[in-house]
Amino acid sequence: MASILNAPHLGLSKFLETSEFSDFTIEATENVVKLEEQQPLLIARMIQYLYYGKYDVLNVAAGLTRILDKASSKVILDDAIFAQDFDFEVHADMYAMADRFEIPALKALSAKNFVYEVRSKNFSIADLVSAIDFVYNTTPENDFGLRKWVAYRAQQVEHELVRHEDFKTALKDHPDFAWDFATKYAKANYLWCSHCKDTIDLVECRCGFSGMCGDATCATGAPAALQCTRCKNWGKLQRELPPLKENLTLGELGRTDEPNAPIKRSPKKKRRLS
Ligand SMILES: [Zn+2]
Ligand SMILES: [Zn+2]
Repeated sequence: MASILNAPHLGLSKFLETSEFSDFTIEATENVVKLEEQQPLLIARMIQYLYYGKYDVLNVAAGLTRILDKASSKVILDDAIFAQDFDFEVHADMYAMADRFEIPALKALSAKNFVYEVRSKNFSIADLVSAIDFVYNTTPENDFGLRKWVAYRAQQVEHELVRHEDFKTALKDHPDFAWDFATKYAKANYLWCSHCKDTIDLVECRCGFSGMCGDATCATGAPAALQCTRCKNWGKLQRELPPLKENLTLGELGRTDEPNAPIKRSPKKKRRLS
C-alpha cells in the first residue's frame, strides 16, 4: 500500500481516477505554475508527482498523457510529446522545477533518479558533457545536489574527457564547473594534519569525503578518527586548512622540485680488472 511518503498528496489521487477530477483542478494547478517558459510535460510530471509520488520519464507514458488530456488549456503540443528528452534531462528539469516550486521531496526523488543515470555504465562521455552543460545551466549556483555528481564523474574520467573538444567548450562556458572540477571532490582528496602541519593525501576515500565514492569510511567516517599516513598519529587530521598565509613559498609547502637538486645516480660499477 502506498504511504504518504511516496504519495505526498495521496488523498487527491482519487480525483484522477474518477469524474471528480475536473478542469478546475488542473486549472487551479496551472494558475499556481503560470510560467510561460515551463513545458507542459514538466508541469504534467509535477502534477503526476503530487498525486502519485512519482513521475514518468517517457513523454508518451499513459499517466502523463492522461493528465495532459484533462487540462482545460490545450497548449499542449504534439511535438513536445513525441520529441523525447534524454532521461537525465527530464530528471534535471524536474529537480530545477522542484527547487523553483519548493517541493523538497520531489527534489530528492529527481536527484536520486539523476544520480542513477549519471552513475550508469551506459552513460556515455557525450552524455556527461551534455549533462554538465545542462546542470550548470538549470541549477542555482549554490545548489550542488546535481552539480557535484557531474563534476565528480568528470574527474573520474578526466583522461578521456580532455580528448573531447566539447569538454573544452563546457569548461569555457561554465566557469563554476571549471572551478568545481579543478578544486573539489576528487581534487580535494586531502586532509590537514595538525601535527605534520601539512596536507596529507586521503587514501580512505576518492571524493574528498563528499559521500560519492562509496567507500565505507567516506560518508560516515570523521577525519578526526583517521590515522595520519605520515606521522602515524591518530586524531590529528581535519578538513579545515589553517588560515591563508600571504606570500607562502612553495618551499614551505615542501612540495616543490628544487631546480638545482642534485640528481642521484646509481653508483658506477667498478670495472673488473682482468
Ligand atoms: Zn569518498
Ligand atoms: Zn601527520
